[in-house]
Amino acid sequence: MKRLQGKVAIVTASTQGIGFAIVERFGLEGASVVVSSRKQKNVDEAVEKLKSKGVECLGIVCHVSNSQQRKDLVEKTVQRYGKIDIVVSNAAANPSIDNILDMKESVLDKLWDINVKASVLLLQAAAPHLSKGSSVILIASISGYHPQSSMAMYGVTKTALLGLTKALAAEMSPDSRVNCIAPGFVPTHFADFITNNPTIRKEIEQNTLLKRLGTAEDMAATAAFLASDDSAYITGETIVVAGGMPSRL
Ligand code: NAP
Repeated sequence: MKRLQGKVAIVTASTQGIGFAIVERFGLEGASVVVSSRKQKNVDEAVEKLKSKGVECLGIVCHVSNSQQRKDLVEKTVQRYGKIDIVVSNAAANPSIDNILDMKESVLDKLWDINVKASVLLLQAAAPHLSKGSSVILIASISGYHPQSSMAMYGVTKTALLGLTKALAAEMSPDSRVNCIAPGFVPTHFADFITNNPTIRKEIEQNTLLKRLGTAEDMAATAAFLASDDSAYITGETIVVAGGMPSRL
């Protein structure tokens, strides 16, 4: 399928895991993709991999909390491709397993900065360049619905993204759609402290209706749907991609 032919997509935190699967899928569906993360080496390696699959791409270093790097990400994309059709805000941090009441202020600030505020600031920078019919996708988490101990405050920042999706969808309509994906558990580096533990992993698998963890490709398939005109009448929604884990009615 080439649903994204001629589109230009920025995806943050896209040199591995879910973000990389998204740029790869977008690229294979015909988009020009801008791959980014904090480390130049990771950006270079991701660009190499994408090019070897025939994907048109540009690599840019961008720590999402760095305002100059966010500006560069947007400006270099526009310089190279002339427009932006898709933005996926995918970066997140989960720096502590402390209970909320024990969390240091610096950790609370980091969670807010990276998981919520950076999405807003990136979209402020990108908004003037977004094409008519553009699609914005935020990456939340199943834990946004049920913030669990050991990642409770992280979960709360993801709950905020569910609200941000609704608010931005209203603010950016009718020219842009804004939707959100709430992944279940995917065995990436980010989640390996959970998914590498065989007992916890089994528990999570049993807690899904489909009896397995998610894959980065499961998330990328949903992102491609939300980025494409197949979802042209969907905005302000969160799609839970979690194998039927409990989320909401
Ligand atoms: P991952 O495999 O660990 O990949 C993280 C990526 O983010 C890397 O490319 C990393 O590259 C980049 N990165 C980290 N901090 C960054 C920052 N401050 N600015 C820019 N790039 C940064 O992670 P993942 O599991 O794919 O997670 C992606 C998203 O999915 C996150 O929003 C996460 O909350 C969400 N999610 C994941 C799961 C799961 O089970 N995996 C479940 C629910 C939601 P550099 O080191 O080069 O920066």
